[in-house]
Amino acid sequence: MTVPAAPPAAPLAAPPAAPLAAPPAAPLALLAELTHRCPLRCPYCSNPTALARPGEELDTATWARVFQEAAALGCLQVHLSGGEPTARRDIVALVRAASEAGLYTNLITSGVLTGEAKLQALAEAGLDHVQLSVQDAEPVSADRIGGYRGGHAKKLDFARLVHASGLPLTLNAVVHRQNLDRLPQLIELALDLGAGRLEVAHVQYYGWALANRDALLPTRAQLEAATATVEAARRALKGRLVIDYVVPDYYAKRPKSCMGGWGRQFLAVSPAGRVLPCHAAESLPGFDFPNVRQVSLQWAWEDSEAFNRFRGTGWMPLPCRGCERAELDWGGCRCQAFALTGDAASTDPACALSPHHGVLSLAVDAAIEAGTAFTYREPQKIPG
Ligand code: SF4
Ligand code: SF4
Repeated sequence: MTVPAAPPAAPLAAPPAAPLAAPPAAPLALLAELTHRCPLRCPYCSNPTALARPGEELDTATWARVFQEAAALGCLQVHLSGGEPTARRDIVALVRAASEAGLYTNLITSGVLTGEAKLQALAEAGLDHVQLSVQDAEPVSADRIGGYRGGHAKKLDFARLVHASGLPLTLNAVVHRQNLDRLPQLIELALDLGAGRLEVAHVQYYGWALANRDALLPTRAQLEAATATVEAARRALKGRLVIDYVVPDYYAKRPKSCMGGWGRQFLAVSPAGRVLPCHAAESLPGFDFPNVRQVSLQWAWEDSEAFNRFRGTGWMPLPCRGCERAELDWGGCRCQAFALTGDAASTDPACALSPHHGVLSLAVDAAIEAGTAFTYREPQKIPG
């Protein structure tokens, strides 16, 4: 195994003092964004619009140290993500390092770069679970959405390899106006590929997805049909396929509990080492996110100003302050609040009590009139 680099115990420079909420419990999971490189170009990609360059990526030893620190902090699992995590030449060593740290390892992948030999090496290194993204059930549409010709066929090949290997497989389908009508076929695909779980996730509108919002927002009729499809499939497939369903904020009356609350359950580390309360948080201005090159994960989680700024309920404005749902949804999503109001500290407009709630229905109306052309993220060179 690669020897972990020794973690600095304290930041190199003293950060501004932050008002501490209640001491945070251990995070449940670490999202390790190993790289932003990816052969696909999904128009809803959750990567920031300014992608990290390969030369900025953390090296193997630093990631191994991060995994050790995450486990020591109480994390139970790591999601190895990207970009496309298998674009890292050291992906097998990284899986081994995470596994040896005692973390349950989940590989979140597009599946287009991994053949049988690499999958076997990953399994032998301790990989516990595979989460494969699909763009559609119909190949031509899937390849168009992913911006990668032949990608859908490669994904199906990869899924069959995973099933044959005995590793548990989750299929991840990001749904939107241009594929939602084929949700029944996506459910069939998950069954056909031997997935034990299907995650049907409506697009969340930050970063690239926000840039493509007009081409992606579903109609209300589509949403209602999809919800009915999921409910019927859950009943019919009980015991065969678990279906997770992430609903779109733009038709909501109350916001989702984004990441289970800022700095409460999850932390992410970006390819360049920035420690984030969620993968989209780099879109927020006015933050100096700690970096694992300079600080320990524990310091970032417990003491950094960035993690404490929106932790708990003390930061909340009206109408969240005193609201009976304050500790259920934690005021919604900070990134969405910033994207739609220009103020990350405002109530998420997905809440009908927000004075900005009307911007969501305006966006829906505009999208229904719009076309279907995508703005793709730039293709990334894979070697690195
Ligand atoms: S598969 Fe698509 S969503 Fe995932 S990292 Fe690549 S471009 Fe982004
Ligand atoms: S007012 Fe705030 S806490 Fe209350 S439901 Fe809306 S977003 Fe949640």
